[in-house]
Amino acid sequence: MRDPRHDILFEPVQIGPKTARNRFFQVPHCNGMGHRHPTSLAAMRGTKAEGGWAVVCTEEVEIHHTSGLDGAVEGRLWDDADVPAHRRIVDEVHRHGSLAGIELVHSGLNATATYPRVAAIGPSARPLTSGIPAQGRAMTLDDIADLREWHRAAVRRSLDAGYDVVYVYAAHGLTIFQQFLSRRYNDRTDEYGGSLANRARLLREVVEDTLELCRDRAAVAVRLCVDELLGDDGLQRAEIEELMAMVGELPDLWDFMVGEWDFDSSTSRFEQEGYIEPWVEGLKALTTKPVVIIGRYTSPDTMARLVRSGITDFIGAARPSIADPFLPVKIEEGRVDDIRECIGCNICVAADWMVVPIRCTQNASMGEEWRRGWHPERIRPKESDAKVLVVGGGPSGLEAAMWLGRRGYEVVLTEAGRTLGGRVAREARLPGLSEWGRVADHRLLQLAKLPNVLVTLESPMSAEEIVGYDFTPVAVATGATWRSDGVGVWHHKPVFTDAFAVDELLAGRRPTGKRVTVFDDDHYYLGGVLAELLAREGFDVTLVTPDSKVSSWTVNTMEQARIHRRLVEAGVVLATDTAVLAHDGDGALLADAYTGREHRIASDVLVSVTARRPNDALVGELRAAGFANVQAIGDSWNPGIIADAVFDGRRYAEDLDAPARDRGATPFLREVVRLA
Ligand code: ADP
Ligand code: SF4
Repeated sequence: MRDPRHDILFEPVQIGPKTARNRFFQVPHCNGMGHRHPTSLAAMRGTKAEGGWAVVCTEEVEIHHTSGLDGAVEGRLWDDADVPAHRRIVDEVHRHGSLAGIELVHSGLNATATYPRVAAIGPSARPLTSGIPAQGRAMTLDDIADLREWHRAAVRRSLDAGYDVVYVYAAHGLTIFQQFLSRRYNDRTDEYGGSLANRARLLREVVEDTLELCRDRAAVAVRLCVDELLGDDGLQRAEIEELMAMVGELPDLWDFMVGEWDFDSSTSRFEQEGYIEPWVEGLKALTTKPVVIIGRYTSPDTMARLVRSGITDFIGAARPSIADPFLPVKIEEGRVDDIRECIGCNICVAADWMVVPIRCTQNASMGEEWRRGWHPERIRPKESDAKVLVVGGGPSGLEAAMWLGRRGYEVVLTEAGRTLGGRVAREARLPGLSEWGRVADHRLLQLAKLPNVLVTLESPMSAEEIVGYDFTPVAVATGATWRSDGVGVWHHKPVFTDAFAVDELLAGRRPTGKRVTVFDDDHYYLGGVLAELLAREGFDVTLVTPDSKVSSWTVNTMEQARIHRRLVEAGVVLATDTAVLAHDGDGALLADAYTGREHRIASDVLVSVTARRPNDALVGELRAAGFANVQAIGDSWNPGIIADAVFDGRRYAEDLDAPARDRGATPFLREVVRLA
């Protein structure tokens, strides 16, 4: 039964000629699938609709080849050949009774246009913001007329595909309409530059073009950046209010966002739920049209408050809908504690940057709906009376036990320690990572609902003990241990003998000595987080990394700049492009990563964050004892990120009793490019 306080979230909302069945709105989000994996993409969007999102949108869809953002895989609607893939998305969304929205984009100065090999275009001649050494050409009035025609053509194709909502996109610093609007890029002296009315002329014309074509067939949304976070150099509130006075009533829906993508998708390390509220408050009063905002909302009470207090009409979500495509259905059915809350880690975002299908730490089925046939809520029933032992209650063990339990198997999960959660329980205590604890919290709640899963704590399992029971099979999810000897990307042979173990730090113990050298050759978050932790506790910390950026892989989670800033603010000394060669009573011997030139720094303690060893001894011992049906999963199979461990737990549960596959066969479906 739904909590009546949440009734307001299930009111239908009119958007132009269309009616959304509730207030849950999956805003456009990238996914690394785009035009390259069309059926995977369609199935993923369809799953969101099945989970109750009343509006389900595409990612940005390029309207023309001059918009090409090659290097990423976005949607395309360059010509009629792209329409069938979009029909597939629309059909999947409609099948579950939701509205399908398309976010049309022209990237302007953010294009790369390296695949089509044409000149990029923009309001003024400028270097491209996409990071390639090329410029965009200042558009002539003829170019502007062409752009409007390309947009119209894309709108026609969107209608042809069956979309219900068509976006005009002027946000994230990624689009030509924002570039015209913003004084930052627009130095024009004609009727498209200068005053706000002139800079907004193209946006207004394109919205009018789109409205004229959509009429009663589809609604027209505008996604607008309401503060570029650049102070007086960029768009901010005063101009947005002026703009709303001019065009506030024009589209059928306003989708407000703030800053660029890295702020819009801030990680939980830096921003909490509702972080954009201060910027969007009061904007809804400037239009009678419905408004959608995001804010990584997972709490239905907060969502209801947002609607009641007149901040928004729709609860927009990208990440909460990725972590839990069934979030609306769960609120509707009064199953709020079943919501799989996003932890704000941005592994989903990283997939887009890495140009691989979207993945999610909390939802292992994300991106696997079609190619592996996984569902975020369902799994096929058990196919035998196997009694399964899962050893280790970290992310992979919890995930495996939960899905095996849902399949109906009798499962025992044993954990050596006093608490469940493994690495997430430990890492959630680090600065900024508390939300990561949700990985364990969700699974613990779910396991408690499964009478066929028995969880035992303080039960370290040995091979001898396991052989004495009648379990087949056994999943070993015993995690991994950080190496202290320096072996990693830089060093291939052990070099350190006196490093303070990372796992000791994670367990809450601290070294004696004040000057700490953290050697980060892992390049994701942990080296940086440990440096921050120790600096905040009063240690004098130097963070040494052979990369030119600290926590360099976090460019993919869009946190790198903020991590750098936070470390500097915490007083950490940063030594990039540098390796630690040795550490002893005299301090640390460092070497420049390019020249090899050496120098020493004073240091009492070394913390070496490089690589991990899988804790898989149990597997070998069981096999030696003649127990064949045993498999390591998660970090004990292959140390990786938390998302990999969760995924592997799910894979184990899916594979149990599945027909044997040829060991060399690709374990998922794929779409192959059609030959010309
Ligand atoms: P993963 O990320 O693969 O899930 P973790 O390191 O997070 O791995 O979790 C591994 C868990 O396994 C830890 O909670 C650890 O205490 C537990 N564990 C390790 N060895 C044993 C064992 N022999 N018996 C039971 N639990 C174990
Ligand atoms: Fe949230 Fe992380 Fe999943 Fe993205 S990957 S939806 S940030 S839990």
